[in-house]
Amino acid sequence: MFDKILIANRGEIALRVIRACREMGVQSVAVHSTADADAMHVRMADEAICIGPPSSTDSYLSIPAIVAACEITGAQAIHPGYGFLSENARFVEILEDHGITFIGPTSEHIRVMGDKITAKDTMKKLGVPCVPGSEGGVATVEEAKALGEEIGYPLIIKATAGGGGKGMKLAKSADEMEQAFQTARQEGKVNFGNDEVYIEKYLGKPRHIEIQVFGDGKGKAVHLGERDCSLQRRHQKVFEEAPGPAIDPETRARIGRICADAMADINYIGAGTIEFLYEDGEFFFIEMNTRLQVEHPVTEAIFGVDLVREQIRVAAGVDMSFDQDDLVINGHAIEVRINAEKLPNFSPCPGKITQYHAPGGLGVRMDSALYDGYSIPPYYDSLIGKLIVHGRNRPEALSRLNRALGELIVDGVDTTIPLFDALLGQKDILTGDYDIHWLEHWLETNLQG
Ligand code: ADP
Repeated sequence: MFDKILIANRGEIALRVIRACREMGVQSVAVHSTADADAMHVRMADEAICIGPPSSTDSYLSIPAIVAACEITGAQAIHPGYGFLSENARFVEILEDHGITFIGPTSEHIRVMGDKITAKDTMKKLGVPCVPGSEGGVATVEEAKALGEEIGYPLIIKATAGGGGKGMKLAKSADEMEQAFQTARQEGKVNFGNDEVYIEKYLGKPRHIEIQVFGDGKGKAVHLGERDCSLQRRHQKVFEEAPGPAIDPETRARIGRICADAMADINYIGAGTIEFLYEDGEFFFIEMNTRLQVEHPVTEAIFGVDLVREQIRVAAGVDMSFDQDDLVINGHAIEVRINAEKLPNFSPCPGKITQYHAPGGLGVRMDSALYDGYSIPPYYDSLIGKLIVHGRNRPEALSRLNRALGELIVDGVDTTIPLFDALLGQKDILTGDYDIHWLEHWLETNLQG
């Protein structure tokens, strides 16, 4: 096992990793920008080191600064959290050159899955069902239009390097193709330095269902069921639950097996998430995330496992602590993302927290780096906390969420808490009857109108 791990991240996810380290008796090193000198992860880690100015490009994304921090502190491994360098294959290669272990998959797997065209092609070959669409990249508008004739509209044009909802454009008819095609290319180029795009059938009312997988890198892989993350705004998840209200045990076992087998086939190591759209009983692969997800705690709650601990174990060459048969679902869990954002437009709302009170009690977990008097810096993501509740069944989880939201106090900045209060009054949320468009429709008529 490692003696010391450096966490190349900030906020709640840095705390999440520090907590796992502490329980495992491993020393933790926090890195921080000058803007985060007073941040909770800096206070909680065993050691902390400043790696640069506020801009993430010069701090949390600076590979030389992070490698130097490892060398200075003697950390043997790096946990990347999510975002920042977590899916950067080059970073992993540089760490290898420096003899530092990356707590995550190999650079090759990151590269294959980070390019959506290669990812889809690989998954198809591994027997994972995919969304119908172009075979590989589409180079010209003419080619795109010909494909439209062949498979029919609506279509979605996606940048192969895209992420976070960027580089994705809808074309409802041939007339809209030119504009959608050029915009997706442009967004891919500007945001990800790659203008290659591909095309998929646009599904009208799917759910977003993602399968949590975990591999030991030596041919063993398991699945930990699904999360339903259909409630999204601008392709960003806001409310996630496990198990999925629309998935029965047979369906879960079937798709879970396909995913676990695919990961075993490629000797995948660590945690991964295979994302699907699910419509009329069918799964369609959209992308794979080769890292821990923001929403991993709902899976931890229903399976009673610590995914970060497992990531650290397999990275250190220790066996996974579970087999597929050990993984039995217990109850239902829901996570809501608390963002420092002002409704109805969800505009970022950084500032000073004048009062913070976290909810508690049975089945309540609050993952947050907030504290009284903390100033949320304006440079980073607006996620300031995740409230996760666990109950024996979905109705119990929902009433627990309602109760916990009532206890949660975040004063001084606007947050998304009122959104969740409102959602808990909606019949479709209470019955679990929603798809990936539900929230946007609801927001149009209820919040923004
Ligand atoms: P990103 O990497 O930007 O998150 P994804 O490929 O994971 O992009 O897609 C994000 C979201 O976009 C999905 O959860 C879904 O809401 C929507 N989406 C993606 N592909 C399609 C599709 N073929 N049809 C309909 N909606 C889609």
